[in-house]
Amino acid sequence: MTTNEASPDQPASKPSSGAAESKRSSGPVSIIVCTNCGARNTIRPSPRGAPHCGTCGKPLPWVVDATDATFDIEAQTTATVLVDLWAPWCGPCRFVSPILEQLAREFPGRLKVIKVNVDDNRALSQRYEALSIPTMVVMKDGRVVDRVVGAMPKPALTARLTPYLIRRS
Ligand SMILES: [Zn+2]
Repeated sequence: MTTNEASPDQPASKPSSGAAESKRSSGPVSIIVCTNCGARNTIRPSPRGAPHCGTCGKPLPWVVDATDATFDIEAQTTATVLVDLWAPWCGPCRFVSPILEQLAREFPGRLKVIKVNVDDNRALSQRYEALSIPTMVVMKDGRVVDRVVGAMPKPALTARLTPYLIRRS
C-alpha cells in the first residue's frame, strides 16, 4: 500500500522503485540491542519493513535517535512513528523513556520510536512545538495524528497509543 504520494509533509526524495534495500552504505546508523539474544544490530532506516535481529531473527525494539539532519530519513516508514522530544535534564522524560521502549517491544514492526534531544535539535523542537517536554508526537504516513504532552503512566499511555498501532483490516 503506497499512501505517501499525496502527503505534503513527505520529502520528495523517496525512490519510487523498490531499490531502497540495496542502498546499504547511506543513511544514519543506529545500534539496537536484541531483547531476545542480546546481539547488537546495526540498523539503517528503511522506508519499508521493520528491523529483525541478524543473529536470532526476532523483531527488534525499534527505538532510534535522530537529529535535525537525520529525522526526515528516519521518519520514512510504514510503521506508526512516535517522536519523543526529550532532554537529559528532564525527569518526566526519564520516566517516559522506558515505557516507550516497552511499547516498542510490544508492537514490533508497528511502532518506531524516534528520540530527539531538544537541546541539540532546535529545528525539530520548533517544528513540533516542544514548548514543554516530554512532548510525544504520533505520526502515520508522515502526518501528525496525535500529540501527548507530559509524562503518563504506562496504562494511560498504552491506551492512548494502541488505536494507532492496531492494524486496520
Ligand atoms: Zn537476537
